[in-house]
Amino acid sequence: MLKKDKERYIKLLLKEKDRICKNLGHSREMLTKGEKGIPTHIADHGTDEFEKGLEINLSDGELKTINNIREALEKIDNGTFGICDGCGKPISKSRLDILPYANFCITCQNEKEKSGE
Ligand SMILES: [Zn+2]
Repeated sequence: MLKKDKERYIKLLLKEKDRICKNLGHSREMLTKGEKGIPTHIADHGTDEFEKGLEINLSDGELKTINNIREALEKIDNGTFGICDGCGKPISKSRLDILPYANFCITCQNEKEKSGE
């Protein structure tokens, strides 16, 4: 994956995480504290302490998304971002643009949904 693509997905991921965090009105203080050390241009994922604090206030769905975002950022770091966890093939860009933290390609996702997972 190209560096500029990576940077774009990092931005998308951080924006999505930010959006979830901002939904938590009562966590604003924590959010401000956690954002301080985060440079906007690279994949600094915030502190563990910050995320632990946040998780208490998250719904299951939000927590899952946050975890997926965190995983995706790790994958960008280690170069496996955009690879399907199911079949090992690259996930299409159009899918990643909509769901940058997708773990599965559309084919595997459909299979999973069919099997009720
Ligand atoms: Zn797949």
